[in-house]
Amino acid sequence: MSHPCVCGLLGEFKFPLTSEYFCPNCFSLKFEKKVIKRIPKYIRGHHVAISLSGGKDSVTLLHLLHKYQRKLRINRLTAIILEEEIPEIKMIRRKIVNKLRSHYSDIQIIQKSYTELFGYSLPRLVQQSDEQGLEFTPCAICGVLRRHGILQLSLDTKSDYIALGNTLEDEAGTILLNIMRGTPSRNFRDLIEYKPTDRQSLPLRFKPLSKISEKAILNYTKINHYPILNAQCAYADRSLRSEISTFLAKIEKKDPRVLYNVVSLIKKDMRRKAQVERVQRCRSCTSYSSEPVCSACRIIQKIMS
Ligand code: SF4
Ligand SMILES: [Zn+2]
Ligand SMILES: [Zn+2]
Repeated sequence: MSHPCVCGLLGEFKFPLTSEYFCPNCFSLKFEKKVIKRIPKYIRGHHVAISLSGGKDSVTLLHLLHKYQRKLRINRLTAIILEEEIPEIKMIRRKIVNKLRSHYSDIQIIQKSYTELFGYSLPRLVQQSDEQGLEFTPCAICGVLRRHGILQLSLDTKSDYIALGNTLEDEAGTILLNIMRGTPSRNFRDLIEYKPTDRQSLPLRFKPLSKISEKAILNYTKINHYPILNAQCAYADRSLRSEISTFLAKIEKKDPRVLYNVVSLIKKDMRRKAQVERVQRCRSCTSYSSEPVCSACRIIQKIMS
Protein backbone atom coordinates (compact mmCIF):
# COMPACT_ATOMS: atom_id res chain seq x y z
CA MET A 1 0.00 0.00 0.00
CA SER A 2 1.44 3.41 -0.92
CA HIS A 3 1.47 6.35 1.50
CA PRO A 4 1.54 10.00 0.51
CA CYS A 5 4.13 12.37 2.01
CA VAL A 6 2.94 15.67 3.57
CA CYS A 7 4.12 17.41 0.37
CA GLY A 8 2.00 15.17 -1.84
CA LEU A 9 4.82 13.04 -3.25
CA LEU A 10 5.10 9.32 -2.57
CA GLY A 11 6.05 8.61 1.07
CA GLU A 12 8.83 6.00 1.02
CA PHE A 13 10.43 6.50 4.45
CA LYS A 14 9.13 6.56 7.97
CA PHE A 15 10.58 7.22 11.41
CA PRO A 16 10.17 4.58 14.11
CA LEU A 17 7.51 5.72 16.63
CA THR A 18 5.56 7.65 14.01
CA SER A 19 2.92 6.69 11.49
CA GLU A 20 3.79 9.39 8.94
CA TYR A 21 5.56 8.57 5.69
CA PHE A 22 7.90 10.96 3.93
CA CYS A 23 9.41 11.45 0.50
CA PRO A 24 13.25 11.42 0.51
CA ASN A 25 13.52 15.20 0.68
CA CYS A 26 11.01 15.69 3.53
CA PHE A 27 12.52 12.74 5.44
CA SER A 28 15.99 14.30 5.19
CA LEU A 29 14.74 17.68 6.38
CA LYS A 30 12.90 16.16 9.33
CA PHE A 31 15.89 13.98 10.24
CA GLU A 32 18.27 16.94 10.14
CA LYS A 33 15.91 19.02 12.28
CA LYS A 34 15.73 16.24 14.90
CA VAL A 35 19.53 15.96 15.10
CA ILE A 36 20.28 19.69 15.04
CA LYS A 37 17.81 20.21 17.89
CA ARG A 38 19.95 17.90 20.03
CA ILE A 39 23.20 19.80 19.48
CA PRO A 40 23.97 21.90 22.57
CA LYS A 41 24.19 25.66 22.11
CA TYR A 42 27.31 25.87 24.26
CA ILE A 43 29.46 24.54 21.41
CA ARG A 44 28.94 27.87 19.58
CA GLY A 45 32.19 29.61 18.74
CA HIS A 46 34.24 26.53 19.66
CA HIS A 47 36.42 23.90 18.06
CA VAL A 48 34.62 20.54 17.79
CA ALA A 49 36.32 17.18 17.23
CA ILE A 50 34.20 14.40 15.71
CA SER A 51 35.13 10.86 16.57
CA LEU A 52 35.02 9.19 13.17
CA SER A 53 35.10 5.43 12.64
CA GLY A 54 33.96 5.63 9.01
CA GLY A 55 30.70 3.78 9.78
CA LYS A 56 27.27 5.19 8.96
CA ASP A 57 26.65 6.80 12.36
CA SER A 58 29.84 8.82 12.69
CA VAL A 59 29.91 9.78 9.00
CA THR A 60 26.30 10.97 9.26
CA LEU A 61 27.31 13.13 12.20
CA LEU A 62 30.28 14.49 10.26
CA HIS A 63 28.02 15.21 7.30
CA LEU A 64 25.48 17.10 9.44
CA LEU A 65 27.99 19.11 11.48
CA HIS A 66 29.71 20.08 8.25
CA LYS A 67 26.44 20.98 6.50
CA TYR A 68 25.21 23.07 9.45
CA GLN A 69 28.58 24.35 10.68
CA ARG A 70 27.72 27.98 9.96
CA LYS A 71 24.22 27.79 11.41
CA LEU A 72 25.55 26.08 14.54
CA ARG A 73 28.34 28.66 14.70
CA ILE A 74 30.99 25.99 15.07
CA ASN A 75 34.33 27.71 14.81
CA ARG A 76 36.30 24.74 13.56
CA LEU A 77 35.70 21.03 12.86
CA THR A 78 38.29 18.27 13.15
CA ALA A 79 37.62 14.59 12.49
CA ILE A 80 39.66 12.17 14.58
CA ILE A 81 40.10 8.59 13.45
CA LEU A 82 41.53 5.78 15.54
CA GLU A 83 42.92 2.84 13.62
CA GLU A 84 42.68 -0.43 15.57
CA GLU A 85 44.72 -2.14 12.83
CA ILE A 86 42.31 -5.01 12.24
CA PRO A 87 43.57 -5.95 8.73
CA GLU A 88 40.23 -6.23 6.84
CA ILE A 89 38.78 -3.06 8.38
CA LYS A 90 42.03 -1.12 7.96
CA MET A 91 42.07 -1.75 4.22
CA ILE A 92 38.46 -0.67 3.65
CA ARG A 93 38.78 2.29 6.03
CA ARG A 94 41.76 3.61 4.09
CA LYS A 95 39.63 3.86 0.94
CA ILE A 96 36.72 5.47 2.81
CA VAL A 97 38.98 8.01 4.54
CA ASN A 98 40.48 9.00 1.19
CA LYS A 99 36.99 9.60 -0.16
CA LEU A 100 36.02 11.54 2.95
CA ARG A 101 39.15 13.69 2.66
CA SER A 102 38.16 14.80 -0.83
CA HIS A 103 34.43 15.05 0.02
CA TYR A 104 35.06 17.23 3.11
CA SER A 105 38.27 18.93 1.99
CA ASP A 106 37.84 21.85 4.42
CA ILE A 107 37.80 19.56 7.50
CA GLN A 108 41.05 18.53 9.13
CA ILE A 109 41.11 14.72 9.40
CA ILE A 110 43.61 13.30 11.90
CA GLN A 111 44.28 9.57 11.97
CA LYS A 112 46.38 7.64 14.51
CA SER A 113 46.81 3.94 15.04
CA TYR A 114 46.67 2.09 18.34
CA THR A 115 50.34 1.24 17.84
CA GLU A 116 51.24 4.92 17.54
CA LEU A 117 49.22 5.82 20.61
CA PHE A 118 49.64 2.79 22.86
CA GLY A 119 52.55 0.80 21.45
CA TYR A 120 50.46 -2.19 20.28
CA SER A 121 47.79 -2.92 17.67
CA LEU A 122 44.45 -4.35 18.77
CA PRO A 123 45.11 -7.77 17.13
CA ARG A 124 48.44 -7.98 18.99
CA LEU A 125 46.81 -7.25 22.35
CA VAL A 126 43.92 -9.66 21.66
CA GLN A 127 46.33 -12.45 20.69
CA GLN A 128 48.44 -11.92 23.80
CA SER A 129 45.38 -11.73 26.05
CA ASP A 130 43.98 -14.96 24.56
CA GLU A 131 47.31 -16.75 24.91
CA GLN A 132 47.45 -15.81 28.57
CA GLY A 133 43.87 -16.95 29.09
CA LEU A 134 42.78 -13.52 30.33
CA GLU A 135 39.11 -12.69 30.48
CA PHE A 136 39.22 -9.57 28.27
CA THR A 137 37.07 -9.64 25.15
CA PRO A 138 38.48 -7.78 22.11
CA CYS A 139 35.75 -5.15 22.48
CA ALA A 140 36.62 -4.58 26.14
CA ILE A 141 40.25 -3.86 25.17
CA CYS A 142 39.26 -1.85 22.11
CA GLY A 143 36.68 0.22 24.02
CA VAL A 144 39.13 1.30 26.73
CA LEU A 145 41.82 2.23 24.19
CA ARG A 146 39.35 4.07 22.00
CA ARG A 147 38.08 6.13 24.90
CA HIS A 148 41.61 7.18 25.81
CA GLY A 149 42.65 7.66 22.17
CA ILE A 150 39.73 9.99 21.46
CA LEU A 151 40.57 12.07 24.52
CA GLN A 152 44.25 12.17 23.58
CA LEU A 153 43.63 13.25 19.98
CA SER A 154 41.07 15.85 20.99
CA LEU A 155 43.65 17.32 23.40
CA ASP A 156 46.38 17.17 20.74
CA THR A 157 44.16 19.07 18.31
CA LYS A 158 43.12 21.55 21.04
CA SER A 159 39.44 20.74 20.55
CA ASP A 160 36.89 22.15 23.00
CA TYR A 161 34.19 19.51 22.51
CA ILE A 162 33.95 15.94 21.22
CA ALA A 163 30.98 14.89 19.09
CA LEU A 164 30.21 11.17 19.31
CA GLY A 165 27.97 9.25 16.91
CA ASN A 166 26.39 6.94 19.52
CA THR A 167 22.87 5.96 18.50
CA LEU A 168 19.77 5.07 20.50
CA GLU A 169 20.66 1.37 20.13
CA ASP A 170 24.26 2.00 21.29
CA GLU A 171 23.09 3.84 24.38
CA ALA A 172 20.45 1.23 25.26
CA GLY A 173 23.08 -1.50 24.73
CA THR A 174 25.51 0.27 27.05
CA ILE A 175 22.88 0.58 29.78
CA LEU A 176 22.03 -3.13 29.62
CA LEU A 177 25.68 -4.13 29.42
CA ASN A 178 26.57 -2.12 32.52
CA ILE A 179 23.62 -3.57 34.43
CA MET A 180 24.42 -7.15 33.35
CA ARG A 181 28.06 -6.75 34.38
CA GLY A 182 26.94 -5.56 37.80
CA THR A 183 28.39 -2.08 37.28
CA PRO A 184 25.31 0.14 36.76
CA SER A 185 27.18 3.15 38.15
CA ARG A 186 29.26 3.10 34.96
CA ASN A 187 26.19 4.42 33.17
CA PHE A 188 27.07 7.74 34.71
CA ARG A 189 30.48 7.70 33.05
CA ASP A 190 29.27 6.27 29.73
CA LEU A 191 26.05 8.20 29.16
CA ILE A 192 26.35 11.59 30.71
CA GLU A 193 26.79 14.62 28.51
CA TYR A 194 28.17 17.31 30.80
CA LYS A 195 26.92 20.83 31.05
CA PRO A 196 29.60 23.48 30.48
CA THR A 197 29.55 24.48 34.15
CA ASP A 198 30.86 21.00 35.00
CA ARG A 199 33.84 21.61 32.81
CA GLN A 200 37.39 21.22 33.98
CA SER A 201 40.16 21.47 31.43
CA LEU A 202 39.05 18.50 29.32
CA PRO A 203 37.00 18.56 26.13
CA LEU A 204 33.42 17.54 26.87
CA ARG A 205 31.38 15.03 24.91
CA PHE A 206 28.01 15.44 23.25
CA LYS A 207 25.96 12.85 21.35
CA PRO A 208 23.42 14.31 18.92
CA LEU A 209 22.30 10.87 17.64
CA SER A 210 21.72 9.28 21.03
CA LYS A 211 17.93 9.41 20.72
CA ILE A 212 17.92 8.55 17.01
CA SER A 213 17.30 5.00 15.83
CA GLU A 214 19.81 3.33 13.50
CA LYS A 215 16.97 2.61 11.08
CA ALA A 216 16.40 6.33 10.60
CA ILE A 217 20.16 6.90 10.16
CA LEU A 218 20.32 4.13 7.58
CA ASN A 219 17.47 5.72 5.61
CA TYR A 220 19.21 9.08 5.74
CA THR A 221 22.45 7.58 4.39
CA LYS A 222 20.52 5.87 1.58
CA ILE A 223 18.98 9.18 0.55
CA ASN A 224 22.14 11.28 0.84
CA HIS A 225 24.81 9.02 -0.67
CA TYR A 226 28.03 9.84 1.17
CA PRO A 227 30.87 7.32 1.53
CA ILE A 228 30.55 4.99 4.53
CA LEU A 229 32.51 2.02 5.80
CA ASN A 230 30.30 -1.02 5.62
CA ALA A 231 32.28 -3.85 7.17
CA GLN A 232 31.74 -6.07 10.17
CA CYS A 233 34.61 -6.33 12.64
CA ALA A 234 35.81 -9.92 12.95
CA TYR A 235 35.85 -9.58 16.75
CA ALA A 236 32.27 -8.34 17.09
CA ASP A 237 30.81 -11.83 17.62
CA ARG A 238 32.94 -12.39 20.69
CA SER A 239 31.34 -9.56 22.61
CA LEU A 240 28.33 -9.68 24.88
CA ARG A 241 27.29 -6.42 23.23
CA SER A 242 26.58 -8.16 19.92
CA GLU A 243 24.17 -10.54 21.69
CA ILE A 244 22.56 -7.61 23.45
CA SER A 245 22.20 -5.86 20.07
CA THR A 246 20.38 -8.88 18.64
CA PHE A 247 18.10 -8.93 21.68
CA LEU A 248 17.42 -5.18 21.43
CA ALA A 249 16.65 -5.46 17.72
CA LYS A 250 13.95 -8.03 18.54
CA ILE A 251 12.49 -5.81 21.26
CA GLU A 252 12.61 -2.78 18.99
CA LYS A 253 10.72 -4.65 16.31
CA LYS A 254 7.94 -5.44 18.76
CA ASP A 255 7.78 -1.99 20.32
CA PRO A 256 10.14 0.78 19.15
CA ARG A 257 9.28 2.92 22.20
CA VAL A 258 11.04 0.58 24.65
CA LEU A 259 14.61 1.62 23.78
CA TYR A 260 13.68 5.27 23.74
CA ASN A 261 12.02 4.98 27.16
CA VAL A 262 14.99 3.15 28.71
CA VAL A 263 17.56 5.64 27.41
CA SER A 264 15.46 8.69 28.35
CA LEU A 265 14.81 7.39 31.85
CA ILE A 266 18.43 6.54 32.62
CA LYS A 267 19.77 9.77 31.12
CA LYS A 268 17.32 11.78 33.21
CA ASP A 269 18.47 9.95 36.31
CA MET A 270 22.13 10.48 35.40
CA ARG A 271 21.57 14.21 34.88
CA ARG A 272 20.09 14.46 38.37
CA LYS A 273 23.19 12.86 39.83
CA ALA A 274 25.58 14.82 37.61
CA GLN A 275 28.66 16.10 39.35
CA VAL A 276 32.12 17.14 38.38
CA GLU A 277 34.34 14.16 37.66
CA ARG A 278 37.75 14.85 39.21
CA VAL A 279 40.63 13.93 36.97
CA GLN A 280 44.34 13.58 37.52
CA ARG A 281 47.38 12.73 35.42
CA CYS A 282 48.03 9.01 34.90
CA ARG A 283 51.28 8.04 36.64
CA SER A 284 52.29 5.91 33.71
CA CYS A 285 51.34 7.76 30.48
CA THR A 286 50.45 11.24 31.91
CA SER A 287 47.06 11.17 30.18
CA TYR A 288 44.00 12.24 32.19
CA SER A 289 42.27 9.68 34.38
CA SER A 290 39.97 9.44 37.38
CA GLU A 291 42.39 6.86 38.87
CA PRO A 292 46.13 7.21 39.61
CA VAL A 293 46.84 4.89 36.63
CA CYS A 294 44.48 5.18 33.63
CA SER A 295 42.44 2.20 32.46
CA ALA A 296 44.36 2.03 29.13
CA CYS A 297 47.68 1.63 30.96
CA ARG A 298 46.17 -0.86 33.42
CA ILE A 299 44.74 -3.11 30.68
CA ILE A 300 47.93 -2.97 28.56
CA GLN A 301 50.15 -3.69 31.57
CA LYS A 302 47.99 -6.66 32.55
CA ILE A 303 48.05 -8.15 29.04
CA MET A 304 51.70 -7.51 28.17
CA SER A 305 53.28 -8.31 31.56
S1 SF4 B 1 33.57 -4.69 17.27
FE1 SF4 B 1 34.73 -4.51 19.19
S2 SF4 B 1 36.85 -4.94 18.61
FE2 SF4 B 1 35.75 -4.52 16.72
S3 SF4 B 1 36.11 -2.31 16.35
FE3 SF4 B 1 34.16 -2.51 17.49
S4 SF4 B 1 34.73 -2.32 19.66
FE4 SF4 B 1 36.62 -2.71 18.50
ZN1 LIG C 1 7.72 15.19 0.86
ZN1 LIG D 1 47.92 5.89 31.42
